[in-house]
Amino acid sequence: ASAWSKVPQGPPDAILGITEAFKADSFKEKINLGVGAYRDDKGKPYVLPSVRSAEDKVVASRSDKEYAGITGIPAFTNAAAELAYGPDSSAIKEDRLVITQTISGTGALRIGGAFLQRFYPGAKKVYLPNPSWANHNAVFKDSGLEVEKYRYYNKDTIGLDFEGLIEDIKAAPEGSIILLHACAHNPTGVDPTEAQWRQISDVMKQKGHFAFFDMAYQGFASGNADKDAFAPRHFVAEGHNIALCQSFAKNMGLYGERVGAFSLVCENTEEKKRVESQIKILIRPFYSNPPSTQWLGEVKGMADRIIEMRSLLRTNLEKLGSKHDWSHITSQIGMFAYTGLKPEQMDALAKEHSVYATKDGRISVAGITTGNVQRLAESIFKVTG
Ligand code: PMP
Repeated sequence: ASAWSKVPQGPPDAILGITEAFKADSFKEKINLGVGAYRDDKGKPYVLPSVRSAEDKVVASRSDKEYAGITGIPAFTNAAAELAYGPDSSAIKEDRLVITQTISGTGALRIGGAFLQRFYPGAKKVYLPNPSWANHNAVFKDSGLEVEKYRYYNKDTIGLDFEGLIEDIKAAPEGSIILLHACAHNPTGVDPTEAQWRQISDVMKQKGHFAFFDMAYQGFASGNADKDAFAPRHFVAEGHNIALCQSFAKNMGLYGERVGAFSLVCENTEEKKRVESQIKILIRPFYSNPPSTQWLGEVKGMADRIIEMRSLLRTNLEKLGSKHDWSHITSQIGMFAYTGLKPEQMDALAKEHSVYATKDGRISVAGITTGNVQRLAESIFKVTG
């Protein structure tokens, strides 16, 4: 028999299934709100002019194609650290930050997961918000960590369950690993306020918890990269030695180029050196070294278009006379809106109106354009009554 004759068929990826249904639909005004990739107002992929110009420079430089170091190109990782932590960060100034280039955000999470599995002195269990980006569960399980949930989203208010979150973080055993979305929580678009972040930081400090930040949308949420980095910067200022995963897929529009970084704030330079040596030992057998790449920024235009589409969708729904409260569409942040629509309503959107998105009611605001927002609002109005 073949070596693989007993390999079971796995389930298809939830998001890819939507893309297939969308492709199969022949209606010419169909709308795809499933994908997590930015689109311009014509619904087309968008390459940032700054990225195009960086690309031209890279090609013109006739680079030698030599290997990068195990932790990547220092010019890149230094810039990534400064973008995330801020130029005045004590962790950078005091030379106690370990940072490595990674295969985008997913690779950062996977390296972080592997490091915690190998060296975290407490329970090898990570607490994820409920809900969270679907891949978090798989990444941490494959890293050999247990996965647990803490309360995050309140479906009655379509907002944050702050009391539940605090209760669950207090109830977790001392020294637990807590995963936090730094900004633009995926899939809900619901973020804690700055005051709430301060409280989360205080509670986590009391409990000696470890903060593991996933920052996949810095700058993309508000249009301001410093504002979006408030939470991890505040934690560091409060003395938390955090872990941080950065993705440049969305904010730089570099999806397929797989550009990211993973960093750990250490107690001092001596500890940093030991941790860095182990990060290198971990990465070497994974993929030896990351691709050589270059980074440049320009993100506000994308964030502004997303914010404008949120507001257009809301006003269109209100103009149609919808009796529902749609304020969450504009109060949520980032690429996704968690509409509060039920699975049956999402089904009706696809079947009766050719509007495709995930069953949990999450829509990618990037798929909305001035050209399709009215039809979208009408469709949502019809299925929500
Ligand atoms: N974390 C979150 C919360 C995300 O939404 C994403 C992208 N969808 C990622 C990490 C990682 O994406 P990538 O590997 O493409 O950087």
